[in-house]
Amino acid sequence: MCYTCSMKTLREYIVEARAKKVAIGHFNFSNLEGLYAIARAARTLGVPVIVGLSEGEQEAIGTHQAVALVKTIRDGWDIPIYLNADHHYSFGSVKDAIDAGFDAVIYDGAAYPFQENVAVAKQCVDYARKVSRETRRDIIVEVELGYIGEGSKIRDEIPEGVAVITKASDAEDFIEKTGADMLAPAVGNFHGMLRNATKPRLNIDCIKEIASAINAPLVLHGGSGEDADFAAAIDAGIAIIHINTELRRAYTAALKSYMDKNPDDIAPYKYGTNASLAMEAVVTEKLKIFNKIT
Ligand SMILES: [Zn+2]
Repeated sequence: MCYTCSMKTLREYIVEARAKKVAIGHFNFSNLEGLYAIARAARTLGVPVIVGLSEGEQEAIGTHQAVALVKTIRDGWDIPIYLNADHHYSFGSVKDAIDAGFDAVIYDGAAYPFQENVAVAKQCVDYARKVSRETRRDIIVEVELGYIGEGSKIRDEIPEGVAVITKASDAEDFIEKTGADMLAPAVGNFHGMLRNATKPRLNIDCIKEIASAINAPLVLHGGSGEDADFAAAIDAGIAIIHINTELRRAYTAALKSYMDKNPDDIAPYKYGTNASLAMEAVVTEKLKIFNKIT
């Protein structure tokens, strides 16, 4: 149980998700409309949710401001919403998020050689454990092994290097050496979406193999894939699924369409609301799939 509120901790929700063979949705935001869209969808469906900030998104919102915003929604709306530092690429960046009060962090050293990735990931885990002990928090640390590209954007082609699937033996070694809580492997997924609408197919057998080799839940990034793959991936060992590109696309398309129809509207809270509703619809659809709600 959380020490500062009556809610379950994120770790407890992750364990519960694995037991129920569902996944917790992780959605990125970079403005208030986005954050509220995610929170509304989770509240309506009554499921836990993680909101994430990449280093760039975090800079736009503000590190301490993000913690305060999520906390006011968690306490004020009484919903299990947790804040994650998504893809932070250095110890310093992870440390800032931990110090500010994030519930979870991702150290992403996937682009580095194995030993370098291990060394910094271990430093992040050790720091998170120390702060958790000192502040009576339970900070979750996710690490990344296997390159899946960077950036939630529309792409013309699959990013170079993505074809290499994470080996189960490497995953086992990585988790053993770092002591991290969760692992994001490369299993056919990649960040962003293809312009030609082709969706990545996941290697479910590899997910199963990695899940049985390590004693840590798995996280799927680049979640804008085939819906049919999600249920199989969750059953195979995925506990959290990340979505970002689809939200950005829905938000921007709704905003463009609204402005086309209402070119004289200059009130951000009005045109922003329309875009926020479009994002909420995508989050709702994904949360239903991940939580197997029909
Ligand atoms: Zn990601």
